[in-house]
Amino acid sequence: MDTADLAPRIASGDRRALARAITLVESQRADHRAQALALLGQLAGTGREALRIGLSGTPGVGKSTFIESFGLMLTGQGLRVAVLAVDPSSSRSGGSILGDKTRMERLSRDPMAFIRPSPSQSHLGGVARRTREAVALCEAAGFDVILIETVGVGQSETVVAQLCDLFLLLLAPAGGDELQGVKRGIMEMADIILVNKADGDLRPAAMRTVADYAGALRLLRRRPQDPEGFPKAMPVSAIEEQGLTHAWAEMQALVGWRRETGHFARRRSEQSRHWFEEEVRQGLLSVLSRPGPARETMSRLGEAVTRGDLTPEAAAARMLASL
Ligand code: GDP
Repeated sequence: MDTADLAPRIASGDRRALARAITLVESQRADHRAQALALLGQLAGTGREALRIGLSGTPGVGKSTFIESFGLMLTGQGLRVAVLAVDPSSSRSGGSILGDKTRMERLSRDPMAFIRPSPSQSHLGGVARRTREAVALCEAAGFDVILIETVGVGQSETVVAQLCDLFLLLLAPAGGDELQGVKRGIMEMADIILVNKADGDLRPAAMRTVADYAGALRLLRRRPQDPEGFPKAMPVSAIEEQGLTHAWAEMQALVGWRRETGHFARRRSEQSRHWFEEEVRQGLLSVLSRPGPARETMSRLGEAVTRGDLTPEAAAARMLASL
């Protein structure tokens, strides 16, 4: 792949160059990896900063509908919007659920928007790295808002929370008066809970769900990164485009407060540190699995443990000392 002119083209906002660069960072090939790192290095100094918004919700709550309506509202205000997806399950389903071409059709035709489906990758570590680098590329390309979407499966929310400035949890109206099976950990990550489908017959149920979650959120310990009143729950209707400007105003208020108090910058620094450590961890794991001296030592020590010549602890200590 010729990557020589990619950096200036991305910096000028060229969406095709951006798409090619994301393909490059997704590649597993060693030469592509080197090009990707060089490109990210070249673009690191643009000083551009997008608002990174994470969005999670189980299938069917209306994530794509919401992203389309919300995205179009933002582009309508003159903002450039990028949409990325973290979908570690895509390799199992044989194709990305979040990559379905029919999703977000209007937004994908909008010249102010850029939508990138999730790649098929077998492990969350790979998806996380690719998404993090795609975020950096979108930021360098001058996008104002980057939406990072994930389905509510396992660890993917934690990954998204480490990539975003603001985390939204999208819920559907609950049938009964019980809180839906939202894990406490995920609720604690949310800055704003949006109860979607607050329209038509579903509106009363949606309003009850909002009240239930508002109550549950009040019981959580107040986080230092939150002003009074956050995290909060609010109703929206992605289909009827209701509540979206209100939700956006709340997001801006929260972000404004966090910028003023230094929490915004601090969170980003902590995230950088987290990703540095994570990269090192992943790198060490790949050193152990690649053919080479480390794997040979590992296998030699493993045999010694099997024979009973070494205890597992002693062998592990030797292995770590050899690295
Ligand atoms: P996703 O799986 O989370 O991406 O959900 P979709 O956006 O594909 O929506 C799932 C279903 O919910 C679709 O049939 C949508 O038409 C419907 N839906 C999405 N948003 C709304 C809404 O605001 N109100 C109502 N009544 N239905 C909605």
